Amino acid sequence: MKTLVLATQNPGKISEIRDLLPESITVVSCKEVGITEDIPETGDTLEANAEQKARYMFDRCGLPCLADDTGLEVEALDGAPGVYSARYAGPEKDSEKNIDKLLLALAGNENRRARFRTVLAMVSKSGTQFYEGIVRGTIAEKRMGNSGFGYDPVFIPEGETRSFAQMTKAEKNQISHRGRALQKAFGSNQNPGSI
Ligand code: IMP
Repeated sequence: MKTLVLATQNPGKISEIRDLLPESITVVSCKEVGITEDIPETGDTLEANAEQKARYMFDRCGLPCLADDTGLEVEALDGAPGVYSARYAGPEKDSEKNIDKLLLALAGNENRRARFRTVLAMVSKSGTQFYEGIVRGTIAEKRMGNSGFGYDPVFIPEGETRSFAQMTKAEKNQISHRGRALQKAFGSNQNPGSI
């Protein structure tokens, strides 16, 4: 059995990533290795943040660590909120307030094109590897659905009429930014780093 530590305290991410990883990998959370504090995230790119989070955990537990940093990039807002998606409406990282601010910023705007971009960083004793996943879509006029987390209620992936929050976790995982990045990292029997 190989062990992989997920460098995130976000239960939504943990649940999605757990479902997407091969059964041969034992996934443990930060809590399970005794790290309960917020992991620092001070970079100004998704890549920098993902690597910072994975390295922070690797330095403390010495096991292969995987971190995910995700941004919602909205065309009419010149790519905002992007790397600042979690704190878009303030430092408290409140998803409801983030959605309210986004809907207000796009009010009356016909261009609702957006994309989610995830960067995964895998840090192990063999160094750092990055994997990117993107899903394009549009921002809904209002919230739809209760599943998922974060901006899911207002993101409608391309080719769909439902938001991510109206899908099952398996449906979202199949087409999502995170699912695509994980597929690159672990699909086709790949085994990143020294897991
Ligand atoms: P971070 O990657 O944890 O910094 O997350 C950035 C922001 O995007 C947070 O507000 C998350 O709730 C949100 N977010 C991350 N992944 C997803 C997703 O899969 N769906 C919807 N929102 C997400």
